[in-house]
Order: sequence, then structure tokens, then C-alpha cells
Amino acid sequence: TRLSNQIAAGEVVERPASVIKELLENALDAGASRLDVEIDNGGIKRIKVRDNGKGIDKGDLPMALARHATSKIHILEDLEAVATLGFRGEALASISSVARLVLTSSRDENGKGWQVEAEGRDMNAQLAPAAHPRGTSVDVRDLFFNTPARRKFLRTEKTEFNRVDDTIKRLALSRFDVSISLRHNGKGVHNLRAGSGRVEMERRVAQVCGPAFMQNALHIDVERNGLRLWGWVAEPAFSRSQADLQFFYVNGRAIRDRVVSHAVRRAFADVLYHGRHPAFVLYLELDPASVDVNVHPTKHEVRFRDSRLVHDFLFGSLHRALADVRP
Ligand code: ADP
Ligand code: MG
Repeated sequence: TRLSNQIAAGEVVERPASVIKELLENALDAGASRLDVEIDNGGIKRIKVRDNGKGIDKGDLPMALARHATSKIHILEDLEAVATLGFRGEALASISSVARLVLTSSRDENGKGWQVEAEGRDMNAQLAPAAHPRGTSVDVRDLFFNTPARRKFLRTEKTEFNRVDDTIKRLALSRFDVSISLRHNGKGVHNLRAGSGRVEMERRVAQVCGPAFMQNALHIDVERNGLRLWGWVAEPAFSRSQADLQFFYVNGRAIRDRVVSHAVRRAFADVLYHGRHPAFVLYLELDPASVDVNVHPTKHEVRFRDSRLVHDFLFGSLHRALADVRP
């Protein structure tokens, strides 16, 4: 089981950004409305995620770190299946098998909580009392301290930080209703307040994409045949790293998709300019039955039932909106 823990961990725990993604998903599952992330050294030395969600019962804390507590995967041979299905129910166990992890949680409004620790293969199921407001903190230190081969795959502090930052930004633009902060090496990077009104959303987009994006952005909101496309698009001329400013969500989920990029690129190229990467924050909403989100375990990919319809809707909507401002 220990061996399979580490092998499995190699899949889900690739780098600090993937750890943070799993921890934030757990926090959101727990109904958190506030997420505070602190990292040191790009997350390699330390990751701390605190949420104000419903917390974990004292008796469930050791279980939360134990592999197989919530998963159907029991034997090493099943790893093949895991690779295609993803590691649902394994994130905390996987992370703790390759790091020093402290899980602290409270369901108590009075600040009383409990803590369990794990260090690599050794889990200390001993519960210790700990002060904690209602919610959960996961403290992950020294990622891959016991797996030098995996540690070698980590890049520089700057690169790992950028990936973490990208993960936070991607989430921030899909959950305007959740407050999110990020600190790196003790310095504040993001402090995003929750708010779902247009003004508050645009403030967040400006904070995430930079004020220049928002100043140049065109707001669009188009609905046709049960498909809705809304968000902000901008000429990318102001930005040197346009690739960083492409956010696309399908039913609230961040995705990268060739049908989507093609339609967007063509609409921009047709109206505005040629050979440049457009900048956009766009949300496509459609009947969940007409899109398959489970084609890839990391869930960044989708498959549209009618990709032609989606392509033409995206292209047509963007083309018309852009042409209106640039006749
Ligand atoms: P999964 O989320 O797929 O169930 P994880 O290993 O990520 O598996 O988490 C294990 C369990 O621990 C979760 O099912 C949940 O019950 C609990 N848990 C983890 N993180 C949190 C959190 N931040 N708040 C509340 N409960 C949590
Ligand atoms: Mg999880």
C-alpha cells in the first residue's frame, strides 16, 4: 500500500500547483467562501491552504489522510484504471505520502479544533487539540522530500510560483463568490474580495488580468439557441504575455479546447488583426447534457456533442461583438 501510495502520488501530485488545485477543490467542496493560500519558495518548501468551510469532524480527521478511505481503488493493479479515472478520494493521502502534512480542522464556532500529522509514509494518527476557527487548514512542507526522483522534476521557484499563480487566477475567475488570497514568501500577491455584481466582477478581472486588460476590454453577453457566451475580450497589443490572458470556462469549468481556441482565434483574426494571440475571459454556458466533461482526468478537456454548433456560435458571437466596435 505504501508503494502504491507513492506511485499513485506521482500522478496526482506533480508539483505545488497540482497540490494547491486539489486542496482548493476540497475547500470548495466543503462550502468555503474564503480561501487563503500561502506558499514559500514557489510552494516547494511550503504550501498552506486555509478555508472557512464546514470543517472535518475530529473522528474523521485520520480517515481523511488514509488512502482508500473514500476511494474504490484497493490494489496496485488498479493503478491503470486510476490513470484514466483520476484519483478521486486520494488527494490528501497522496500528498501526505510525499510531503510533511499537517491537517487542522474545526467545526466549532469557538475556535477549538483538532490536528493530525503525516510525514511521508509515516502517519501519526494521534489527534492533538489545536486552535482553529471553523474550517480547515492544510499545511504541506518539503514536497517530495522523500522522493528525490520526483523532486528533480520541479523547476525553478519562479516557474513553480507562476504555475501556482495561474491555478489561483483560473479559479478566481470561475468563483467570483469566493474570496481568495495568495501570499508568496510572506508578500501579498492577490487579495480578491468576493462579489458577483458586474462592478465587483470587473474589479476582480482587472486584478487578475491587469488593469490594462480591463481598460481595453469589451464586455459581451450573447444568448442564442440555449447557448450563452459572456465575458470580456480585449485586443492583446498591450500585453507581452498574451498566452497568460486566455481564460475559457464551460459551465464554470476551466478548459482548453481546440474547437474553442479555433473559433476564438478566427473571430479575432477576422476582425482585428492577424497573427496575434487574443486576450479573453469568456464563459460558455450550455445544457450539461450536450457536453462531456469527463474525457480527461484533470478535467481540462471537454467534448461537445455538437462541436460544429458550438464553434459557429462562438465564432459568430465574437465576430459580431468585435465588428460592432471595429467596423
Ligand atoms: P476527496 O476530496 O476526493 O474525497 P481527498 O483526499 O481530497 O479526497 O479528501 C478526503 C476527504 O477529506 C474528503 O472527502 C473530505 O471529507 C475531507 N476533506 C478534505 N479536505 C477538506 C476540507 N478542506 N474541508 C472539509 N473536509 C475536507
Ligand atoms: Mg479531494
